[in-house]
Amino acid sequence: MHSLLIGDKRPAGSGRITVLEPALGTPMDEVASAAEADVNAAVAAAKTAFPHWSGLTAVARADLLFRFSDLVRSRAEELATLEARNVGKPIGDARWEANHVADTLRYYAGAADKFFGETIPVKKGGLDITLRDALGVVGLIVPWNFPMVIATWKLAPALACGNTVVLKPASLTPLTALRLGELALEAGLPPGVVNVIPGPGSTVGALLAAHPDVAKIGFTGETATGRAILQASAQTIKRVSLELGGKSPNVIFGDTDVAVAARHAVDSVFANAGQDCCARSRVIVERSIYPALVDAMAAAARNMKVGDPLDPATEMGPLVSAAQRERTEQYVALGTSGGARLVCGGARPERPGFFLTPAIFADARPRMRIVDEEIFGPVVAVMPFDTEEEAVALANDSIYGLSGSLWTNDMKRGLRVARAIRTGVLSVNSSSSVHLQAPFGGYRQSGLGRELGMHAMDHYSETKNIYFETNP
Ligand code: NDP
Repeated sequence: MHSLLIGDKRPAGSGRITVLEPALGTPMDEVASAAEADVNAAVAAAKTAFPHWSGLTAVARADLLFRFSDLVRSRAEELATLEARNVGKPIGDARWEANHVADTLRYYAGAADKFFGETIPVKKGGLDITLRDALGVVGLIVPWNFPMVIATWKLAPALACGNTVVLKPASLTPLTALRLGELALEAGLPPGVVNVIPGPGSTVGALLAAHPDVAKIGFTGETATGRAILQASAQTIKRVSLELGGKSPNVIFGDTDVAVAARHAVDSVFANAGQDCCARSRVIVERSIYPALVDAMAAAARNMKVGDPLDPATEMGPLVSAAQRERTEQYVALGTSGGARLVCGGARPERPGFFLTPAIFADARPRMRIVDEEIFGPVVAVMPFDTEEEAVALANDSIYGLSGSLWTNDMKRGLRVARAIRTGVLSVNSSSSVHLQAPFGGYRQSGLGRELGMHAMDHYSETKNIYFETNP
């Protein structure tokens, strides 16, 4: 059994989490589950470590973060295998993610001594400067779809700014978070700078969000949970950044190469078995190419290799849990009963584990639940449009505004439509959402604040303004 990580101690917690391997549907490991006393101990350890960590020079913090990055890189295969088995994601994707974790740590190691204040001309005879201060103890609460990646998007800038951290991983996927905590200690980060406490969100997560000694919560997860965290944080006016759900549009104009657009449309919604907040789950297609695009998407989806996550040829693994598969199947049923046309997929293959074949619905419309609601499984809704205005209106017809794509060879139209679609992240003639050096986050109910790039540093620091009077 894996214990909690608090300071350099390994407490046993108050219960056990049985971690499953979704490709088999069988237990994979056991992890200790924290209780209230463990939350308090972890926050206290982080609070004790804070003066020393925040008092180090930025260069000294950077050195330790570079070492942490190198150590993660040297253990990338181990981390990737753990993640592939525990989440069910293809090993090729998990390998990319493990290296992305190392890249993220290296980026913010490099950022630590390049993040500084300003001198501001306020009045004659005075000097006004700003300093960037660490916040204190930061609570990080993360989901199960990209466990080590999302944890590191928060951990790395938080540490670079001089904060200490209590990380609560998702109960379904705590293994890589604990391993990252161990590697941080091995890299030489002082005990208490990174603490990892798996446990139920309803208790451990909620206690962190309400804890008076936690200065900030960095959260990724469902919009409903984000609301609960905002409420819990209100009591002590915590800083909060939220990365929440999405229902991202993929707008395809008629001048696009159908084969290229179809391949990207399929990859960008079925990657990670659709369990991706940036999944392009609403495909909005100009009517002139609509039948050809639906056919090409169906052919590509039927050809996807769904299978063992540890087989390098696998393109889509299982869903993370039996519950997530059942929820997705309910949406497949809702798609059909709501009047959309099921073109392919949505069935359980003959094998153990929580697999489901990728499902494409054509002739979908707004106010169908498969169009309006985030499914977080391998289901896509395809809709036709006739005019550019209609395409933009359909793309923006969502409570979410995280990501999206648009495809056209007319770059004047590309620029016009890219500006009109109201999402935090948008790619033109690409299905990418994430560039480590660029801001990532959502409009509307997709979140609050931006991760990645130097933007993340703003969310893990306070700005202090100091005025010097030179002629008192
Ligand atoms: P949840 O919101 O259910 O869980 C996320 C984390 O919050 C987990 O660690 C969970 O713990 C914890 N949690 C649950 N309830 C509370 C609470 N009341 N107070 C504090 N913490 C709590 O999301 P999922 O894990 O189901 O993840 C899927 C969701 O994440 C999707 O909606 C998806 O869109 C979103 N997501 C958003 C991303 C983005 O960047 N915008 C990226 C990735 C995912 P436990 O596991 O114990 O329940």
